[in-house]
Order: sequence, then C-alpha cells, then structure tokens
Amino acid sequence: MTGTLTIAGLGPGDEALVTPEVSAALAMATDIVGYAPYVTRVQPRDGLTLHPSDNRVELQRAGEALRLAAEGKHVVVVSSGDPGVFAMASAVFEALESVPQWHDLPIRVLPGVTAMLAAAASAGAPLGHDFCAINLSDNLKPWPLIEQRLRLAAEADFAIAMYNPRSASRPEGFARTLEILKEAGCGERIVIFARAVSTPEQRIETVELRAAKPEMADMRTLVIVCNSATRRVGRWVYAPRQVR
Ligand code: SAH
Repeated sequence: MTGTLTIAGLGPGDEALVTPEVSAALAMATDIVGYAPYVTRVQPRDGLTLHPSDNRVELQRAGEALRLAAEGKHVVVVSSGDPGVFAMASAVFEALESVPQWHDLPIRVLPGVTAMLAAAASAGAPLGHDFCAINLSDNLKPWPLIEQRLRLAAEADFAIAMYNPRSASRPEGFARTLEILKEAGCGERIVIFARAVSTPEQRIETVELRAAKPEMADMRTLVIVCNSATRRVGRWVYAPRQVR
C-alpha cells in the first residue's frame, strides 16, 4: 500500500475559510498530525487517528508524519492559515532532507488563507500596495536580524505584516519593535491590530503607530503596519494603488 503525505492549511479559524481541496484531503485521511489546537479543529470519525503534539516540536512532528506515510497511511499535517507561512511545510521538507529513501513519497502542499490576508480583508485593503511579512519570534533566528529587517522594511516604506508579535515568554520584543519603527520615522503610520480574525472573538483596532501600546497585541494577533500612503475611508483602511 502506498501512503501519502498532505500538508494542509486550515485557514484563520472560520470553517467557511477552509478550502474545498483541504476538506477533501481531510475526508480521505487516516491520520492527522499537528499542533494540538489545530488538530482539534478536525472532526473526529471512525478510521481517523489524531496525533496532537506540543508547540515547538515541529521537526519531530514532521518526522512522525513522514514515517506514518512511509508505512502506508494517508497523513494530513495541519497548520493554521497557510502551511507554508511560518508553519509546518518547511519543517516537513527539512525532515525529508535527512532521509533519502522517503524522497519519492507522494507529498502535496495545500494552500490556506493565511492570517495576514484575513486580517487585511477585515480592515479594508492595507496590503493593496507593496508589502512584506515578518515573524517576530526569535525562536529560530537571532533578534538582531529581526531588528535589521524591520529597519529596512520601514525605510522601503513597505506595509509590514507581523506574525507572532508577542508571547508571555517574549513580552519585550514587540515593545522594542514599536520603538524601532518610531525611530525609523513611522510614528504617523496606521497600525492594524487584528485579533482572532474570522472567529467569534475577532477584534480589529486601528491606531497611529505613535499611539500603539505593546499590550494591544498577543499571540492571537496579526499586526499590520501600513505604508505611509495608507489612509482611512469611513471605517476602512486602504493602501492607494498608486504611489508617486
Ligand atoms: N501558518 C499561519 C501562521 C502561523 S504563526 C498562517 O498562515 O496564518 C502564528 C501567528 O499567526 C499568530 O501569532 C498570529 O500572529 C497569526 N494568526 C494566526 N491565526 C490568526 C487569526 N485568526 N487572527 C489573527 N492572527 C492570527
């Protein structure tokens, strides 16, 4: 029996934002592997084994998924949002690198609606011009690199989507982020705090950067620092298409 490995994104939270392609893969699966809060988003059923795991064990989890697929299972590795955006797809390929006999396994990556896009849509169109995305967690990269990228993104006047802005174990990083952006002259830029987008707890706040407080973000928040041309229209925020 030939197993398969599918790496799927479940979107930001709302069932309606799970793509039909991902739903079909979940319906065919024998095993679901992922971080526990994402695995619980998959409906249990006969013939389906759930393998929830802790945070920060991505490589181990990826290895387990590959092993199950090599044994003939139809494995779906689930991430929130899109699996390629600060999520499990990279971890699976990293695990695959070290085991050449698995290189021919049928592997598919199914895209999902990433938090940045759902957040942008809830506020209007802040990503309508050039933008970048940065993960503010320094688990897997040195903090000075994050600072350098923030300064360069500010200088380039990109809108900046920020994932993992603030956790209990790293409360100071986001405060420092706001300071760096103020120093870089971004005080008047609009900042969107989009929390728990597409869930019943959704909350969207927009403020000028100089009025932004570190406590406005937590680990369920996606922060967008808009470009300098971005403006308000009614309750919406949008980036003009043209910048001169
Ligand atoms: N693969 C995911 C991102 C994982 S990193 C994706 O594509 O969306 C986890 C971070 O994503 C969180 O700290 C938060 O910044 C953001 N995030 C995920 N779901 C969110 C949601 N529903 N609302 C706001 N931010 C969200």
